[in-house]
Amino acid sequence: MKQKLLITLFSFGLLIGCKTQVTQTESSKITTINTNIPVREHSIQAILWQQQSAEYRALTYQAFNLARLQLDNILNAKNEFDKPIAIVTDIDETILDNSPYSGKQVELDEEYTSSRWKEWVTLKNAKAIPGAVDFFQYAKSKGVEVFYISNRKTLQKKETIANLIKVGFPFADQSHVFLKDATSGKLDRRLEVMKSHNIVMFLGDNLSDFSIVFEKSTTEIRNKNADSLRLDFGKKFIVLPNPLYGDWETNGVYEGNYKWSTFQKDSIRRKKITSY
Ligand SMILES: [Mg+2]
Repeated sequence: MKQKLLITLFSFGLLIGCKTQVTQTESSKITTINTNIPVREHSIQAILWQQQSAEYRALTYQAFNLARLQLDNILNAKNEFDKPIAIVTDIDETILDNSPYSGKQVELDEEYTSSRWKEWVTLKNAKAIPGAVDFFQYAKSKGVEVFYISNRKTLQKKETIANLIKVGFPFADQSHVFLKDATSGKLDRRLEVMKSHNIVMFLGDNLSDFSIVFEKSTTEIRNKNADSLRLDFGKKFIVLPNPLYGDWETNGVYEGNYKWSTFQKDSIRRKKITSY
């Protein structure tokens, strides 16, 4: 399958930066392929869904309602914990909405750049995902601590904490916010929290927010692992919807290769769609 895909892409040639490309069809006719594809065209529908649809909000409320129910179950079970209990949550697209950053990418016809992302984070204007603040304030009222483990860079810790405080999240301070230093894997940071707390719940939009088995995995392996962990979702793992980006796209659809051209990515996306 992968080989077939590569052959297809190769047959189109290396089209980096091209607006139109002349290619040959099997019948040797010369055909012009339009490669003038805005780089974020494919994400417009996902941005609209996140920003406009009541269904998106309903799903996030559903996730946090479920989280509250599970937390109540844990608290009522009177389990003996040897350490204080805590919840671990991701930040982006789990509790903060960065869809205006994606909107800016469309407006500027621009792929992800760390400088544009930094510009957005520095504004500290991300709104809370619907239902998130109420849930974490509820956890705090029950004596449960919250730790934020995010792959925002440590250099952006000050702005990140300020944004979390601005929209009302509890425990938004130096000792509860763990950002990315060297590695994007979150296991070491989870283990750090576990030294002092029993983690009873994880919240995230990306499955590597929950377990190492989802890190740098193919679509097939990610889906297999999701199936085998099916009983944990909605229980120990609370998942938020994110159609905009994530490992499902970078490691899944694009197979971990960050160097595909816009045209190649468009071809890959089309190639991987299931039809009948
Ligand atoms: Mg996230």
